[in-house]
Amino acid sequence: MALMKSWVESANSPETDFPLNNLPYGVYDLGDERLFCGAAIGDYIVNLTRLEEEQILDLGGPQLFGWGTFSPVIEAGDVAWDRLRLWLQKTLAQGSPVEETVKRYLDPRAEARMHMPFDVAEYTDFYAGKHHATNVGTMFRGAENALPPNWLSIPIGYNGRASSVVVSGTDVVRPNGQLKGPDDALPHFGPCARWDIELEMGAIVGKPSDSMVSVAEADEMIFGYVLLNDWSARDIQAWEYQPLGPFQAKATATSISPWIVTRAALEPFRTSTPERERPLLPYLKEPGPMHYDIALEVALAPEGKPETVITRTNYKELYYSAAQQLAHHTTSGCPMTVGDLLGSGTISGEAKDSRGSLLELSWGGKEPLTLDSGETRSFLEDGDTVTLRGAAIGDGYKIGFGDCVGKVLPAQPIPDWAKE
Ligand code: CA
Repeated sequence: MALMKSWVESANSPETDFPLNNLPYGVYDLGDERLFCGAAIGDYIVNLTRLEEEQILDLGGPQLFGWGTFSPVIEAGDVAWDRLRLWLQKTLAQGSPVEETVKRYLDPRAEARMHMPFDVAEYTDFYAGKHHATNVGTMFRGAENALPPNWLSIPIGYNGRASSVVVSGTDVVRPNGQLKGPDDALPHFGPCARWDIELEMGAIVGKPSDSMVSVAEADEMIFGYVLLNDWSARDIQAWEYQPLGPFQAKATATSISPWIVTRAALEPFRTSTPERERPLLPYLKEPGPMHYDIALEVALAPEGKPETVITRTNYKELYYSAAQQLAHHTTSGCPMTVGDLLGSGTISGEAKDSRGSLLELSWGGKEPLTLDSGETRSFLEDGDTVTLRGAAIGDGYKIGFGDCVGKVLPAQPIPDWAKE
């Protein structure tokens, strides 16, 4: 597929995350309290809220864009999804007869402050990266027991907290928690010293289910994708997760990129999951390519210093697709709802510089990274800013996600009653 040309000039640049082929959805304000729903196009956002108000955009149902969230659009179902995408593509295409009218509804993206694009109903986080699971398993249990025995058969995961999902740009406060180092006789309470990132993708469920669904049905239930940083407290995790968990180590914050890239936009970038090392049970078999080729990177910038890209990898490294994870999620009869967010699991490649967490990049703190500023890092310091980026690379264009940014703030002081 080639670049679809738009009358919005900046959308035709091979550098932009947001050509006409993409059209991701986000929620923003322009400096006051008013929230708008919009679609990104080049350096601009098409203001869908105002276009609907003035009856230039009418998808033939109830009001969809006046609620400060894309959840009503997602709930409206795939006929509405297709109508909206088609309307935007026709309206913004080069030669569109309504260019002069719609031009008045473009807001400069640089002036927009982004908000949560949808209401997160529930949050589940998977563990589908084989290189990640192998690396973590090797560090924690030794090379012989690196992969858990179920790993090649089950897309394993845990139920997380929707309340801790935040949009890019939200500062993240280092957590306090119960800690016990390998040489400590007893645990103590204090700030996390091994504060980490996890490079993931998030899939947004757009259709509900009340019984087991096939992988093909699961794929059609997915509305779109975001970048996802699953902030993780490795020291809290190491002490608490025996045998349950993760719990407090993963409950502080999960950042998502502000633009929902639709499944429709990613369609040309479908690819297959890696070859199976152990046959999957029939319910997990994929009828076709269910995965996506999306280049990913993470940059780290100490306070007041330039950033260093610390890892580069690809979404396709994961062993299980989001559709497989969603299909597995439904096997218990667990009802899935519109707005469910599924974290993919940390995405690490095979090479050392393609690992998706500092735990792996610094090998548990034994091999600190040297940043371009000359500073070293095993885990995050206060004031560090972490940026996730991702894009599916087409011929002369890309389907980008926009940055997923978070800055680390110092831990809260520990109250006197919690001190020993
Ligand atoms: Ca995770």
